[in-house]
Amino acid sequence: VEGLTKTRDNILGGVDQVLSGFSSIDEDFYEELEEALIMADFGVHTALRILSDIKVKVKEQHIKDPMEVKNLLKEELMEIMHLSDDAYIFEEKKSVILIIGVNGVGKTTTIGKLAMRYKAQGKKVVLAAADTFRAAAIEQLTEWSNRANVDIVAGQANSDPGAVVYDAVFAAKARKADMLICDTAGRLHNKKNLMDELGKINKIIDREYPEAHKEVLLVLDSTTGQNALQQAKQFKEVANITGIVLTKLDGTAKGGIAIAIQSELNLSVKFIGVGEGIDDLQDFNPEEFVEALFK
Ligand code: GDP
Repeated sequence: VEGLTKTRDNILGGVDQVLSGFSSIDEDFYEELEEALIMADFGVHTALRILSDIKVKVKEQHIKDPMEVKNLLKEELMEIMHLSDDAYIFEEKKSVILIIGVNGVGKTTTIGKLAMRYKAQGKKVVLAAADTFRAAAIEQLTEWSNRANVDIVAGQANSDPGAVVYDAVFAAKARKADMLICDTAGRLHNKKNLMDELGKINKIIDREYPEAHKEVLLVLDSTTGQNALQQAKQFKEVANITGIVLTKLDGTAKGGIAIAIQSELNLSVKFIGVGEGIDDLQDFNPEEFVEALFK
């Protein structure tokens, strides 16, 4: 997978060193392996869980060679990262996609990339600029809508986000849109505000557009490592997240965070951002991801 080189180097850098640096599997080996997994941003909880599973399998299968632990590790990661069969079902339906996340993680860019992808598939796309607290966000999203050549509904700066969503739903219905993609404000420092606002937007969509499938994508910046995991925890408390977009995987060695998010929060990464360009969004493919880590 392009853009994942750094992640691979980092995870394998550490893990490979441990695997090849030992001639037998003992407590020291496990300790160093644990440290390598934590360094790769798997998170302590997940690293320990993986390690305890591996220990059981090493015993059961009478494994003596540290290099063979690599296959066990791969198996573990494949199991953790498995995506359910209906992960992308929303792409086959008339859908509303709510994009949530704190400022700066790549929400606007992701919306531009998604708009481009669905437009290229021949779908009718409408964007809603419901992050009305930042005038710049409205401008940026308008630019992306021009680039992707899709319609956008934008209110004035500081107008009511609910009203923008209401108008956007009306426009989506009138234009028989396949995809309505809504930007939202990401002020996580005020949990009650965020909850109220997302609640209001959800209510409007449920009431005015019940025929649409609802997908809620939380955007996380992979370069922030464990902070991304904290954000996911907090957003999970206020929103029905249906998937994660992990951005900036091209510039980081912290891709292990994908594993921590899935393992600790049971949230599936569905898309990855691998650059700033309009084409730099990929479906998350767990098999490819894990294989890339082990190539
Ligand atoms: P927002 O505040 O969440 O809407 O974030 P933006 O979409 O404005 O993105 C913030 C910065 O991150 C911009 O400079 C983007 O070009 C950059 N960015 C977004 N996604 C990616 C990505 O996948 N890779 C890289 N390298 N940069 C990205």
